Amino acid sequence: MDQLWTAEKVYTGRRRVEAIVVEDGRVVAAGSARSARRESPTGAERIRRPGRLVVPGWIDAHLHLTALARSRESVPLGDLSSRAGVTRRLTAWAAEHPDPVIVGVGGSIPAFGRGSLRRLDLDRAVRDRPVVLIDASGHQAMANRAALAALGVRSAGSGILGERSMATVYDWLEQVMPIRPEQYRRLLAELAARGLTTVASVQASARERAALRRSEPGRDGRPLPRVRCYAPISELATAARERKAGEASPGRVRLVGVKIFVDGAFGPRTAALREPYADRPDWRGELLWSDRALAAAIDHAHGAGLAVAMHAIGDRGVASALRALRRAGGPPAGVAPPRIEHAGLVPTDLVRRWRSVRAVGVVQPGFLETDQWLLRRLGRSRIRCAYPFRSLLRAGVVLAGSSDAPYGPVDPWRGIRLAMRRPEIDRIAPGLTVREGVSFVDAVRMYTHGGAAALGEPTLGSLEPGGVADLLVLGAASESAAARRPDSPVLETWIGGVRSVHHRRPTGRQAR
Ligand SMILES: [Zn+2]
Repeated sequence: MDQLWTAEKVYTGRRRVEAIVVEDGRVVAAGSARSARRESPTGAERIRRPGRLVVPGWIDAHLHLTALARSRESVPLGDLSSRAGVTRRLTAWAAEHPDPVIVGVGGSIPAFGRGSLRRLDLDRAVRDRPVVLIDASGHQAMANRAALAALGVRSAGSGILGERSMATVYDWLEQVMPIRPEQYRRLLAELAARGLTTVASVQASARERAALRRSEPGRDGRPLPRVRCYAPISELATAARERKAGEASPGRVRLVGVKIFVDGAFGPRTAALREPYADRPDWRGELLWSDRALAAAIDHAHGAGLAVAMHAIGDRGVASALRALRRAGGPPAGVAPPRIEHAGLVPTDLVRRWRSVRAVGVVQPGFLETDQWLLRRLGRSRIRCAYPFRSLLRAGVVLAGSSDAPYGPVDPWRGIRLAMRRPEIDRIAPGLTVREGVSFVDAVRMYTHGGAAALGEPTLGSLEPGGVADLLVLGAASESAAARRPDSPVLETWIGGVRSVHHRRPTGRQAR
């Protein structure tokens, strides 16, 4: 399985070379074509890609495989804004789908609410089965009477389920609508086609992890992306046992750490802000932990050999995560670094403070496109500090790119483009955050080197000697030619030195 790769250009993650040598799925040499030829073992397969750019495979450091797989079988509501539209679609869907539970995804519960969608409308649309609509942020839901009964919720007469009920909703959905190994396999094959060679499934339950481990590649033998899991902190005890057992035989699916929610999200106004919401002057959102409890949870996870991924969106949430990290001890050897997820609002003083804490920022450029409410929630002056990728990179913070799919667009190319140019955010906040865009190379590094750093696996995301041969062949001859493409340039995806995907031509932008 030895290979001598030559291409127009190979970007290793650190430099541009002409060729690399791969032995047993690992890069052993990178340099000029002549030196690579000298160092390649006799009988190595010669793989030539003239006119093409080869880059490390992309890593999505934060998505939700179960919710993403489930969204493929849910009623799409993201394009609707009226009460009548939602009920019509639910009724039509229910008539065609005999599923025991109907799940609607996308769209905004507050928007539907303003359009005066009520629990009664859901009851009328579907009488005989539970219906749950999950907000685009994943932090809020609306349920009909049958679903409230099944969930054992008595108090929510309006049908609206807030932040604190969502764990119950997701647990229940996993029981009544479990995702089968072949559904995960199909989903992972789709992710490989978009250029992803490693993904991190966040908030992955024990049930999800077990099903993922059974989702080994199909008979065609094409490798699937590696999966790294972060369990909900509520499963810390079982996760600790699983982690111990897994260290002996790490496989394609690994448990890395636990996920902790420090606050909520901007959409439902549950992200914790230092100053009140611009569109709700008496409200600053709320923190779900005290600093002391958060620091103790971090130490506890580290003691169990697990890394921590802390969801913090508002500036008060980010500040709390940074204080807790200072108070807690660092991760022991062999445990991935702490991460702060989302980091939606990071004023300059926090950018500075972040530098002194060794935490990777796991960010979602796709939110620049989906956070339609950002200006309304934060107001004109604060939005300057929203998703400040460039400032954080300049301060020396390592950033990992991710999608948070299904709560953001899954396509990594979309994320790379949005991190760079941020043209779409102009619609939301004209001109204000264009200065936080990053270069193409920095954007690609977020989805390669940054993702690897977030997972504590330096051999991923790099085509330097010692790196795992996860690589992409792009339909462009240079970084600048690739950067200009609005559509995904991925032609081939190779995982561990084996080809997983081969498109005849670049695939164009795919639907979410
Ligand atoms: Zn998430």
